[in-house]
Amino acid sequence: MAESKTQKTIVIGAGPVGTLAALYAAQRGHDVEVYELRSDLRDPSTVPLNFTKSINLALSERGIHAIRESGRSVLLEQIFESTIPMHGRMIHGKDLAGKLYEKPQDYDIHGRSIYAVDRGGLNKTLLDELDAMPNVNIMFNHKLTGADFKKHKAWFEVSGSNKSGRNREIEVDFDLMIGADGAHSAARYHMMKYQRMDYQQEYIDTLWCEFQIPAREVQDSTGKETKFRISPNHLHIWPGKEFMFIAIPSFDGSFTCTLFMPSSHFIHLEATPQSVPEFFDVNFPGVTTLITRENLIASFKSNPHLPLISIKCSPYHYEDSVVILGDAAHAMVPFYGQGMNAGLEDVNVLFSFIDSEPSKHIERPSPSNLRAEALSKYSEYRKSDAHVINDLALQNYVEMRASVVSPIYAARKWLEEK
Ligand code: FAD
Repeated sequence: MAESKTQKTIVIGAGPVGTLAALYAAQRGHDVEVYELRSDLRDPSTVPLNFTKSINLALSERGIHAIRESGRSVLLEQIFESTIPMHGRMIHGKDLAGKLYEKPQDYDIHGRSIYAVDRGGLNKTLLDELDAMPNVNIMFNHKLTGADFKKHKAWFEVSGSNKSGRNREIEVDFDLMIGADGAHSAARYHMMKYQRMDYQQEYIDTLWCEFQIPAREVQDSTGKETKFRISPNHLHIWPGKEFMFIAIPSFDGSFTCTLFMPSSHFIHLEATPQSVPEFFDVNFPGVTTLITRENLIASFKSNPHLPLISIKCSPYHYEDSVVILGDAAHAMVPFYGQGMNAGLEDVNVLFSFIDSEPSKHIERPSPSNLRAEALSKYSEYRKSDAHVINDLALQNYVEMRASVVSPIYAARKWLEEK
């Protein structure tokens, strides 16, 4: 494609990573078009990703830094308005005398926190910010179906767009495609036809299901009115050796909870859903005082039981034409709380290469050559970090569900505090 003066960047996927990437590109004056498969998530009728009501995520410095560096100064303030600091994890269990206990474990000796954030809320704030930029167009209900990365062309299926309500296909030219379309990325799939990409994917034998601890007006230990039934400033963990139940606070006083468990246990409970409360009493003591037995059964039956995928690939780009970021490049299991954070960091790292001085050996520094060099440097630099964080995420499942209650962990903590 003949390159116009203004670079045309198309972003596939309007999730947290795609929207931040679009913001970075727009801040640099590119003509930006964002293509999103689903309808606008700010429309209440849109079915949320993964078909669950909400996912609460842990936002950490890795992601915060990338948002801070977007050049949109109020963005971080707006996001922080609806986050809750979590200073550490709170381990729940039962002692040998059968008494329930809660044991806090701080994340940081300097008191720094990670932040509970609603993924949908964060995504909406980023979309609102994009709407305010004159050089950004967001196209919802547009599914990437094909791409020619030599000719810089992409094809999209637009749902229900012609008079008969049938889908139609459109062709779009671009200078750069940023694929941020999640774990099952179409951008990655089409790029593989051009690039000799190494690719490895693994489903772990664990499924997850969402539950909710509702908000309630109660008094906390200082006599203050609070909506939270347990400490809002912790990530709560009920470790269970083979499985785990966690709770992350929401701004409205409720907690979004996730049960992680091997698929065989799901199959067993699916056959006898009435036994779900007993299962919780045995394995996650105290949860039935926070969620009614009826609600536990209802959530287990109605919320999906979803898989967890781990993907490693490289390189992340093809020539000057396409680069993949976020889950599209490195979907990881959620136990390190870093999937989205690492994806947001990708955006910052990518644009730092795009902004940097080109190497001296580029003879004809055309926009295309410069972009190809930046994408290549990005792929090379980012691969080891992305692969390591993927491995750490897998390892942290053992840490969260078992090691947090082991005597070795306690001894290590004791030594650290000495
Ligand atoms: P996505 O959020 O998957 O967005 C991709 C977008 O692309 C979607 O909007 C999709 O509709 C669109 N799309 C897909 N295909 C196409 C197509 N063909 N054409 C156009 N658009 C398309 N991460 C953390 O950092 N902290 C946590 O605490 C955390 N907890 C998690 C808990 C659970 C249970 C799970 C499952 C994940 C968790 N994660 C966490 C991971 C986090 O959710 C993901 O890493 C993050 O959502 C990835 O963002 P993304 O923008 O790359 O992809």
